[in-house]
Amino acid sequence: MTVGIISHELCGEHDMGDFHPECPARLTAIQTHLTRAELGSAIQNIEAISIPNTILSLAHDPAYIDYLFSHSPETGFFALDPDTFMTPKTLAAALLSAGAAVQAVDLIMSHKLTAAFCATRPPGHHAGRNKAMGFCLFNNVAIAAAYARLTYQLKKIAILDFDVHHGNGTEDIVTGQSDVLFCSTFQSPFYPFAGVDTSAGKNVINTPLSADAGSAEFRQAVRDHWLPALNQFKPELIIISAGFDGHAEDDLSQVQLYEEDYRWVTDELKVVADQHSQGRIVSVLEGGYNLEALGRSVVAHVQGLIG
Ligand SMILES: [Zn+2]
Repeated sequence: MTVGIISHELCGEHDMGDFHPECPARLTAIQTHLTRAELGSAIQNIEAISIPNTILSLAHDPAYIDYLFSHSPETGFFALDPDTFMTPKTLAAALLSAGAAVQAVDLIMSHKLTAAFCATRPPGHHAGRNKAMGFCLFNNVAIAAAYARLTYQLKKIAILDFDVHHGNGTEDIVTGQSDVLFCSTFQSPFYPFAGVDTSAGKNVINTPLSADAGSAEFRQAVRDHWLPALNQFKPELIIISAGFDGHAEDDLSQVQLYEEDYRWVTDELKVVADQHSQGRIVSVLEGGYNLEALGRSVVAHVQGLIG
């Protein structure tokens, strides 16, 4: 099955400084490893298209969108939070990241692809309805879900988040939306210190992992919490917040996962997609900061999407 790899060179021009882990080299590492894996015609490289404001506003407050546009600097940096900066190139990259996720929905719903991976940055799952946070400006997966609902009248969309950090922005946007199921596994207690003591709606399944969790605890969490919920929900579309920062070689967390775990969870989600969703999977890059581990993990994930 051909998997679309959606990206854009401008996503590599958003640069928050030499020592920032969310760096342009992440996309280079992904591309290098995908090339080295020689996946041939099983993948199709697609250039991302930018997103119009009307689609952004399906998941974000218009005032917040205006705030980002009006604070995009002509030179230097504008700090959105202590870890998240806008440079003159950031807004274009963020619009392409969100645009790629929406484009993936279009390509899949029009049967041009069955699955796609958006190799884009900045990431999105910490961005709330009216707030940038944790390297994220626009919530790419929540926008994709809202777009799929509006444009294709989908009534059951599942968002699965295996980034090591809780997808608090996604939870903020989709809580209470009965047509969206959101499941997140995450190290806890850990940044962004959300997802445990929340009053999240019935459509949110938060599964904290201990700091010393490894493959067994992660896989058990998915088996116990994600798969039963997914099989009951029967999603028409699966969207993945694909963060690879729980890798054992990634210094941003303590959880000890390996690329085999990302392949495993992808395989499990593909089974669900094949059973309920006509195989439709939109996967969007979130975290992953050890460049080698990120590259290997993305290859394992994409191989899982190919099946
Ligand atoms: Zn993360």
